[in-house]
Amino acid sequence: MQVLKKHNFGAGPCILPGSVLQQAANAVVNWNDSGLSILEVSHRSPEFESVVLKTQLLIRELLNVPQSYEVLFLQGGASTQFSMVAMNFLQGRACGAYLDTGYFAQKAIKEAKLFGKVAIVASSEDKDYSYIPDHFETPSDAAFLHCTSNNTIEGTEMFSFPETSAPLICDMSSDIFSRTINVRDFDLIYAGAQKNMGPAGMTLVIAKNEFLNSVKHALPSMSDYRVYRDNQSMFNTPPVFSIYVSMLNLLWLREQGGVTGIQLKNHKKSELLYEEIDRNPLFYGTAMPAHRSKMNITFKMHDPSMEAEFLRFAAGHGVVGIKGYRTVGGFRASLYNALPLSSVEFLVQVMQHFEKEKTM
Ligand code: PLP
Repeated sequence: MQVLKKHNFGAGPCILPGSVLQQAANAVVNWNDSGLSILEVSHRSPEFESVVLKTQLLIRELLNVPQSYEVLFLQGGASTQFSMVAMNFLQGRACGAYLDTGYFAQKAIKEAKLFGKVAIVASSEDKDYSYIPDHFETPSDAAFLHCTSNNTIEGTEMFSFPETSAPLICDMSSDIFSRTINVRDFDLIYAGAQKNMGPAGMTLVIAKNEFLNSVKHALPSMSDYRVYRDNQSMFNTPPVFSIYVSMLNLLWLREQGGVTGIQLKNHKKSELLYEEIDRNPLFYGTAMPAHRSKMNITFKMHDPSMEAEFLRFAAGHGVVGIKGYRTVGGFRASLYNALPLSSVEFLVQVMQHFEKEKTM
C-alpha cells in the first residue's frame, strides 16, 4: 500500500511521517505477525504493557526527564487538563496564577475559576495576543503559575520561562518534542498527543512526584494524577492505538537526531517561511517577530479580499490546512515535526508564484 500525502500544514489532529503511518497501518491489520490487530490486543497483555513502558522510556530519553518525575498517559485531551490541574492543585489554596497568552490560556482560566480563585498575572489581549508578556509578578501565595508554551492559534511561542517560586505548570500541547526543554524548570507539563506525538486520544503528563504528593484531598479517580501514577497509567482502558502510534513516532523522532536534531530542522523550516512572509509584498506576519512561533506561523494579506483566492490557488497546488483559525482569520501554516522542509520550500514557491500573477 502506498501512503499518499499532500503538503499538509494543518494544525492537527495528527500529522505523522509516511513511514510511521505505514507501520501503524500494518499494525492495525496484523500486529507483529501476532494474528491480532493492535486495536484488539488486550491492554493487560505483556506485549502491550511493554509498549507502554517503551513509550515512557522513549519520552524520558528524548526529553531528558529526571527520575523524580512521573510520565503519565491520560485521556480527555489537554482540555481536561485545564480543569484537572485546578481540581488537584487549586482547591483549598489561595489562588492559581495564569499567564493569559491566548485562546487556550483563556480556556484554562475559565475552567480553573470553577475550582478556586484565579489571578491573571499578565495578558497580551491588548494587542490581539501577538506577543508574550514578560513583565509580571506571581502572587506570593499562588498555588502555581500556569503558562502556555506555544499559542497554537495566535502563533506565538515562549522562548524563556518565568522564574518563579510558585510551582510552574505548562500546557505544551503544540510544541512538545519540537525543541529542547529543561523539565526541571516545571512541576507539571501536559500536552495533548495530537501535534508532535501521535494520534489524538492520549494526553501526556510529566509531573514532579513531590508536586503530586502535595495533593492531600480526595478526588474522583479519573481526575486524580496519583491514581494514574499508582496504576502505571492503566487504571482504566488506556488509549491503546494512540500510545502505540506515539511509540512509533517517537522512535522516528530518535532517528531524526532526537529533539535536538528536529529543533534544527524546525528552525530552518520556520526561518524560510518567515523570510518569505517578510519579503513578499502581499503578505505580513501577525505575531511580533521576537515571539514568533516555530510551530504555527500566522500571517495575513495586506488586501484581505485576496485571501480566499490565495487559499484556492494553494489548494490547487496540493497545499492544504493553511486557513487561519476562525477567530483570527488569514492563514496559519503549522510546521510540526513531521512536515518536511520540502513542503515549506514548496509553499514558499506557491506564494512567489501567486505574487507574480498578481503583480504582473
Ligand atoms: N492547548 C493547546 C496549546 C492546544 O493547541 C490545544 C489544541 O489544539 C489544546 C490545548 C486543546 O487540546 P485538546 O483538543 O487535546 O483538548
